[in-house]
Amino acid sequence: MAEKTIFGKIIDREIPAKIVYEDDLCLAFEDIHPQAPTHLIVIPKKAIPSVDDVAEADEAIVGLLFVAMRKIAAELGLTDGYRVVTNCGRDAGQEVMHLHFHFLAGRRFTWPPG
Ligand code: AMP
Repeated sequence: MAEKTIFGKIIDREIPAKIVYEDDLCLAFEDIHPQAPTHLIVIPKKAIPSVDDVAEADEAIVGLLFVAMRKIAAELGLTDGYRVVTNCGRDAGQEVMHLHFHFLAGRRFTWPPG
């Protein structure tokens, strides 16, 4: 079995995080190096390393992550919008090999991304 990632340790409460949302399958917590006034990391509790590893059997879990983000946005009153980003692999700069979405809000974002 692959070594537990930082995010796996947050799920198991082995290291602290500011958790803002949790249900049976998903967890969301504040990013330790925020890039916007709101910067959350939204993850499945299942240890899927990246988008590259999402299987057909994971389709419900991945869908639920988006339902969770919609609920978080409503809870935080983010009526002006937000950005959801996932990095997959080296070229995208993925550092933590546990599938995650960056949920960013509270400022205007530019396009294209850097
Ligand atoms: P990525 O480059 O897409 O893999 O992003 C990993 C993100 O996880 C970065 O934005 C980090 O700031 C964030 N991060 C790393 N360790 C922690 C931690 N212990 N608690 C919260 N966020 C973290």
